[in-house]
Amino acid sequence: MTWSIHDQSLKQADLLNQESIFALGNGYLGVRGNFEEGYRADMQSIRGSYINAFHDVITIPYGEKLYGFPSTQQKLVNIIDAQGIDIYVGEAKERFSMFSGELLTYERELKLDEGYAERRIHWKSPLGQELKLTFRRLVSFAARELFAIDVAINPLSVNGPITVVSTVQGDVENYTAVNDPRVASGHAKLLTTTAIGTENGIDFVQNETLTSKLSVSCATAYSHSSAEHAEHATEEKLVSYSVTFNANGPVSFTKWNVYTDTLRHGEQCLQIARQKAGALAASSFAEQLAAQKQYVQDFWLRSDIVISNDSDLQEGIRFNLFQLLQSAGRDQYSNIAAKGLSGEGYEGHYFWDTEIYMFPVFLLTQPDIAKQLLLYRYHILPFAKQRAQEMGHKKGALYPWRTIAGTECSSFFPSGTAQYHISADIAYSYIQYYMATEDVAFLADYGCEVLAETARLWIEIGHERNGRFYIDEVTGPDEYTCCVNNNYYTNVMAKHNLAWAAKAIELVRQSNPDRYQQLVQQLELTAEEIASWSKAAQMMYLPYDAALDINPQDDSFLNKQVWDFANTPKEKYPLLLHYHPLTIYRYQVCKQADTVLAHFLLEDEQKVETIKHSYDYYERITTHDSSLSSCIFSIMASKIGYDEKAYHYFKETARLDLDNTHGNTKDGLHLANMGGTWMAIVFGFGGVRIKPDALSLSPKLPNDWDHYQFKLQYKQRTIEVKVNKDGVEVTLQSGEPLTILLNDQPVALAQQVPYKLQHNYTVGK
Ligand code: BGC
Repeated sequence: MTWSIHDQSLKQADLLNQESIFALGNGYLGVRGNFEEGYRADMQSIRGSYINAFHDVITIPYGEKLYGFPSTQQKLVNIIDAQGIDIYVGEAKERFSMFSGELLTYERELKLDEGYAERRIHWKSPLGQELKLTFRRLVSFAARELFAIDVAINPLSVNGPITVVSTVQGDVENYTAVNDPRVASGHAKLLTTTAIGTENGIDFVQNETLTSKLSVSCATAYSHSSAEHAEHATEEKLVSYSVTFNANGPVSFTKWNVYTDTLRHGEQCLQIARQKAGALAASSFAEQLAAQKQYVQDFWLRSDIVISNDSDLQEGIRFNLFQLLQSAGRDQYSNIAAKGLSGEGYEGHYFWDTEIYMFPVFLLTQPDIAKQLLLYRYHILPFAKQRAQEMGHKKGALYPWRTIAGTECSSFFPSGTAQYHISADIAYSYIQYYMATEDVAFLADYGCEVLAETARLWIEIGHERNGRFYIDEVTGPDEYTCCVNNNYYTNVMAKHNLAWAAKAIELVRQSNPDRYQQLVQQLELTAEEIASWSKAAQMMYLPYDAALDINPQDDSFLNKQVWDFANTPKEKYPLLLHYHPLTIYRYQVCKQADTVLAHFLLEDEQKVETIKHSYDYYERITTHDSSLSSCIFSIMASKIGYDEKAYHYFKETARLDLDNTHGNTKDGLHLANMGGTWMAIVFGFGGVRIKPDALSLSPKLPNDWDHYQFKLQYKQRTIEVKVNKDGVEVTLQSGEPLTILLNDQPVALAQQVPYKLQHNYTVGK
């Protein structure tokens, strides 16, 4: 069962969540798990299909708009709906619905090992006609524009013909929710239909966004059993294909929807969609399933994490990894939205979530995808440079807190633009990439520019006083504490950014003098400027409180009152939905890991005791109202030996969406948390760290488990790690011999020779 997600519920609230859980995607295209035939008229559904980065531009309304507030933002657009399939049964033309007649059996399944979703139904109509239906759908990894639906109808007792009506609907709108800041409140209609019809048996709709003037095309071709009658019909915004079959035997009907857009396919996108749909319809659904399976199996071969004896957690981990695979953009236009391609929460924006929570998974399992994610940030570097200028900085790059196309889309600057740390987070991911791949060419071609421009930002906003380098007026990751001086997280990440910018340029100078010269000219670099980065890094002020032996979150944090947790009832969480931000800012209360996260990302900056004391301190005042928090507390609990806590926090992450523990899965999945599940195992229990000189591991086994294992891609090698009650076994499965650190001791690995360390690694009660 751990390779598939099963569900049978037809309750309204469950159905909305399932629309996100059963979402299919391939990084380019995403489709929510809606029922093809729709729901009862009184029911709610968030019907959605999306192309990653396909957006419109909308104005941001402000009561008081000050200088530098972005006037527009991008918004992911709900595109043409090609999910529609209605089935009419018998002479009476009874319309199939899950909510009429009787469901004799019903089950839906998301097949994580094969990459498709299936709905199996045995239905008895109100007039007593009986049929079995199987809907299978896939969003193809092999043909990225393809969303195919296959329906197999088995008439058991049907009185007359069966008619299948497929629709492609151009009249679509985005979902809105007025009182939830995590969902958009306005601008539902973003598309107009610019072309519609049928040509050579292929239905098509082309829509254009109102402001960004991007076009999306959907061309739908069909293959089906021989029919008695078939006809296409075009309305203003809807094109349909209606096919009537005699009901003497099984009927099969396949809908080949191909989506293209002007971002990727240019002005010819409609023609390209039609051509591709025609070509794909000549293949069979079985062939597409086979290609899908091959791709997905290859993914699992490198990325699966196996844990024994806990099928709920195993299912959660696999589900989370599968959704990450489905969500990651693989071209220069796209990245991973906070909700992936599973919903409209956060309007399809990309945040630091990618670099800190999802990128590591790809880096160590699918480095090619990791590279694409970095290239996206490289592609939007010009916007980040422009934004820095707009913010009054002479030089440097300030990455937008949230964006699709590269410009800042955050209208609430205290927990938006003020999170300057995103620039250091992006720099951090470039550094991690270099350390895990040794790809100095990538550093030379892309990394150095990003590192240099982000380093410049810190010089611009920081200042030196009495031999210390300070950074004022920023917000760290904790969005319940805004606009502060010397946020520990920001300062330590900036320090790393500055030091590595100088180091990376030196690496390129040594390895590729020509490129170095080019960079010097292009970036107008001087030796003095590079030296100023190293100096600022050395002088970086990192807040420290000797009495408590902790790193205060910022200069003022410890002077504030502690939030009155004892008198805050459960229903008042998340605090952001119940208290004005200023109320929250006045207290010591954290939405999410901040200093604790910094201690994970740059653990060698502090003594273990300080890290431990800080953990104790912040744990007491952290609400985990953000889903980005628990995984970090799990990792750090593992590090400092709080094994039960590590396990507890890990469990919070593993099934967050499957069990809807944050109550908003309907708006889309929590992708950062999904990366966090992997991190809690690999970086937490596995103790993996990418150090400048080696890969370091210090595995532990949670008490409840007999065994777990995972694989890592590191410097062109595949390394498998197995941990059980006897100890740990590390095998270099492919690649040149390598020395790693195991529990801080160097261990030389040779290909296919398992290295075993006998030890009782069981931890916890
Ligand atoms: C978190 C941010 C995160 C954003 C998108 C917010 O609730 O506080 O850290 O980037 O969600 O996931």
